[in-house]
Amino acid sequence: MSMDITFLGTGSAYPSPTRGASALVLRREGEGWLFDCGEGTQTQFMKSHLKAGRITKIFITHLHGDHFFGLPGLLCTLSLQSSPDPNKPPVDIYGPLGLRNFVWRAMELSHSQLLFPYVVHELVPTRDQCPAEEFKELSCLDRDDVPSEEAQGRIVHLDPVENSYLLVDDEQFVVKAFRLFHRIPSFGFVVEEKPRTGKLNVQKLKEIGVQPGPLYGKLKNGITVVLENGITISPSDVLEDPIPGRKICILGDCSGVVGDAAMKLCYEADILIHEATLDDTQEEKAREHGHSTPKMASDFAKLCKVKKLVLTHFSQRYKPSAQIGEGDTDITELKRQAESVLDGQEVTLAEDFMTIEVPMKKQK
Ligand SMILES: [Zn+2]
Ligand SMILES: [Zn+2]
Repeated sequence: MSMDITFLGTGSAYPSPTRGASALVLRREGEGWLFDCGEGTQTQFMKSHLKAGRITKIFITHLHGDHFFGLPGLLCTLSLQSSPDPNKPPVDIYGPLGLRNFVWRAMELSHSQLLFPYVVHELVPTRDQCPAEEFKELSCLDRDDVPSEEAQGRIVHLDPVENSYLLVDDEQFVVKAFRLFHRIPSFGFVVEEKPRTGKLNVQKLKEIGVQPGPLYGKLKNGITVVLENGITISPSDVLEDPIPGRKICILGDCSGVVGDAAMKLCYEADILIHEATLDDTQEEKAREHGHSTPKMASDFAKLCKVKKLVLTHFSQRYKPSAQIGEGDTDITELKRQAESVLDGQEVTLAEDFMTIEVPMKKQK
């Protein structure tokens, strides 16, 4: 199954002609999951090879404008492009508490009626995810005003044992959120593919005397079979090792993680997407604003032994060497800083419309 990641916006704070505000799409078999939806995300879609109509799930890392101001507009355009279909499954939207009210209010005030249903799954943050003075108690924010039938939703609390939020658990994937520290509560998401059943060892089956047929299917599905001659064959006798799933971690803005879940969940990830808003010489300023530098991102990647680190969410002052003007800094400096921590491991700097393939894994 093919899987890839396309960046639609890689700039911080606001969209510019060279870097859109935060947005990226994880694509798997034609279906798209959107992570963050900064202002202008819908036009970035149009400029890319992706189709916004394929979006089935939207994940919002935190409620700073550069990560979700594009959401009402994108939803309205998706509705314009769709036809009424009572059987259409809802678009799932995941994000911090308050998001459901925002989406519903935006639709209500603009008299926009979406032709498809949506469900907002709100994550309840904890107080230690931001400076004390920034924490807003949103638990009863106009809650009663939102008619439940128009804006379906559910509240997801932190699992106190796992220290994470379980968001999706289907046949192929598990998606969990974990807590990050930022100026306001922010989250990271880990998308983990479940392992696939290994291949049947046909040679071995022939040797035992099992001919191709329905028994093959049963064994592949994990069912023990008994042959006419009384011999019992369990799947583990004839299946090769399972193929491990892929793991992708996408972090929202942060100057660090909260609790030990982030490290556990991101451990040995195939791809870690981490912000690096400012360069290493600006670390104090970065921390003050709840952001990271290349070194901070690399330190976390190293701790988690991730296979590939991709940096994004750059201050608009960092430019490619060809575009550097007054007050700008060469962006490749951030790559150098990140790689210097990772003992020669290559670090990728995200650019708008860059696509990264996530290849299938091999058997262990
Ligand atoms: Zn941001
Ligand atoms: Zn932010």
